[in-house]
Amino acid sequence: MKPLNPPQRVLMGPGPSDVDPAVLRAMAAPTIGHLDPAFLDVMDQTKAMLRTLFGTSNDLTMPMSGTGSAGMETLMVNLIEPGDRVLVGVNGVFGTRMVELARRCRAEVVVAEKPWGQAFTVEDLAAAGGDRSFRALFLVHAETSTGVLQPLEGMRELCDRLGALLAIDCVTSLAGLPVELDRHGVDAAYSGTQKCLSAPPGLSPISLSDRAFAHVLGRSTPVQSWYLDLSLIHRYWDENTRAYHHTAPINTIYALHEACRLALDEGLEARWARHRRLGGALAAGLSDMGLNLPVAPDLRLPQLTVVEVPEGVDDKAVRGRLIRDYGLEIGGGLGAFAGKRWRIGLMGSACTERNVLFCLSALREVLA
Ligand code: PLP
Repeated sequence: MKPLNPPQRVLMGPGPSDVDPAVLRAMAAPTIGHLDPAFLDVMDQTKAMLRTLFGTSNDLTMPMSGTGSAGMETLMVNLIEPGDRVLVGVNGVFGTRMVELARRCRAEVVVAEKPWGQAFTVEDLAAAGGDRSFRALFLVHAETSTGVLQPLEGMRELCDRLGALLAIDCVTSLAGLPVELDRHGVDAAYSGTQKCLSAPPGLSPISLSDRAFAHVLGRSTPVQSWYLDLSLIHRYWDENTRAYHHTAPINTIYALHEACRLALDEGLEARWARHRRLGGALAAGLSDMGLNLPVAPDLRLPQLTVVEVPEGVDDKAVRGRLIRDYGLEIGGGLGAFAGKRWRIGLMGSACTERNVLFCLSALREVLA
């Protein structure tokens, strides 16, 4: 067997994004024990940096072991007890997945639907909720399958009327555009490491408000998943208890630590502005090529631009040539958008002027 030798790519799909070399170097640092005092410092620093990234002072802010889906499942299994009624906004693949998970938690799920490519207004969700009360409202902040941003303004007030916790998916938004959990009164959120944080996949940062965590601790039934039970795992991440739960993925946490450090070193405002500026430049360049961008400009994600595959163009053949001849990965459509959309990411370290120009010229040549 030959040693592993994966090719060098430019990752401009919906994630994973290119990992910063400093993050890869951090991963190669010596593995130490999960209760080593030096590692406990790394954990505390990581939690503090995640709080700044999420825009929260929530005590319970930490990375779950597992990719973004583990974060989604963590919120579902901890917040929902069998028979609870929840409201889920579905305007793309990841909302559909939330419905599936909530049903597996034996919730009574009320689905609010919106055509793919659009965002919910407060009125849409209020109409779907009616005069019922809910345990939680789940929304996807940045729908990676459609490239749509879900504005959060007014959602806290709506949740107060519904008696609901506000829970959001920030897998694609965190570190690429403002998340600001406390400003929006969000009770629970999860993200992933492989998008705008530009760390390898493998962790899901989460954050719960005191109110949401009090609900978890006061449940009348145990959380159905032992691995994702926050009432257990928080005792490892809490500096006052440090009880072993499972062996932390040490080097993956080093990677997250370095990725958070780089993001905060750049400055959140500057990082958001970089994504906005270059996302705008990419969108302008694609439009100049005559390509149609179906998402309304005010709802476009700067870190993920969705493009309609032109009539008569073979989606797979184009993406195949980009990867074969240029080493450039862009994403295809998911679910109902398979074969009909391209998804071009500008996430974290991959969000550079050079990548914008490279992608535009490669696509122009392949489509010529
Ligand atoms: N939620 C959103 C919005 C996503 O984009 C993704 C992945 O692309 C996920 C959840 C699931 O994350 P993962 O694939 O890391 O498990």
